[in-house]
Amino acid sequence: MHQPLRLTLSKSAIQSNWRWLADHAGTACGAAIKANGYGTGARDAMLALQEAGCRDYYVSTWWEAEELGRMPVDSALSVLHGVGADDMVAALASTARPVLNSLEQVERWRTAAPDRACDVMVDTGMNRLGLRIEEIGALAGLRIDTLMSHLACADEDHPLNAAQLSRFRQVRAAVPAKRYSLANSAGICLGADYAFDLVRPGLALYGGIPRDEAAGNICQVAKVDAQIIQRRTIRAGETCGYGATFTAAADTPAAIINIGYADGYLRGFSSRGRAFAEKAELKVLGRVSMDLVALDASEADVGEGDWVELDYDLPRAAEASGLSQYELLTGLGARFERRWI
Ligand SMILES: *Cc1c(COP(=O)(O)O)cnc(C)c1O
Repeated sequence: MHQPLRLTLSKSAIQSNWRWLADHAGTACGAAIKANGYGTGARDAMLALQEAGCRDYYVSTWWEAEELGRMPVDSALSVLHGVGADDMVAALASTARPVLNSLEQVERWRTAAPDRACDVMVDTGMNRLGLRIEEIGALAGLRIDTLMSHLACADEDHPLNAAQLSRFRQVRAAVPAKRYSLANSAGICLGADYAFDLVRPGLALYGGIPRDEAAGNICQVAKVDAQIIQRRTIRAGETCGYGATFTAAADTPAAIINIGYADGYLRGFSSRGRAFAEKAELKVLGRVSMDLVALDASEADVGEGDWVELDYDLPRAAEASGLSQYELLTGLGARFERRWI
């Protein structure tokens, strides 16, 4: 079945991003593939990363772990949200490791699977998930593969970064584990002090630029193309779209494309997004609808059936739309044909 909306995903780009992150960290490099591989398709992203040398993967839930399907034999999968009471059946049937986040989860795992390896999250300042530092005594005797913490402000120069690093070192000295891991994408950019034994990038693998250090080293992975359904002329003085927020000053050729906020192209792009056809630039006219966007086709000789590429350079699209680079990726909806090349 033809799909008028396409996401072209570059295997060489995700692999080159992984290599840059691994080299920059100077240590083992895993991959967060939660949220369907940040919108790109978790299984295909995982297989591309595996080919590059990645061996440690992270999803949020047991449902995501199940959806991934069979893991490569020499790889490991961790479930970041750990084991709630309702997760135990799935967790015990799975080969993935839970990341234990609370005293309740520690006790639940210790009782149900005392001999099985787990990961542990210790909170060093995020106050989201993880054991408090005062609680790490409860970890005695667990078979911990990776002891981790998560940085709250790594994308900024914030005093909390150094404070979390120092608390993490303190935890590392007190709790035996096979490996220690602190840094996400932005944390890798903070330098070797933050790398420990294993880093866990997500965003930057998929082309996001978490900090300036990554600019020029991380390549765009996802290319968004939409097909033109109709070319029409908006006459001088007429308006276009919901709310009539665009009024044509002169006769304006418009290309109406098959994408909208239901596909993750949110209303922040109204009058601000742009697309390309060959070298020509086409600006979004008026509001983004659920399934449609009007583009100014004055400069582009395009019509029904032609394709345009939306400007999805992540830092630039984030600036235009007011969305974060994370939201731009993870919002990409189910109606795209996802094509890894
Ligand atoms: C999502 C996540 C990551 C990856 O973060 P990015 O900012 O996307 O690099 C790493 N660690 C944990 C615990 C996460 O939840």
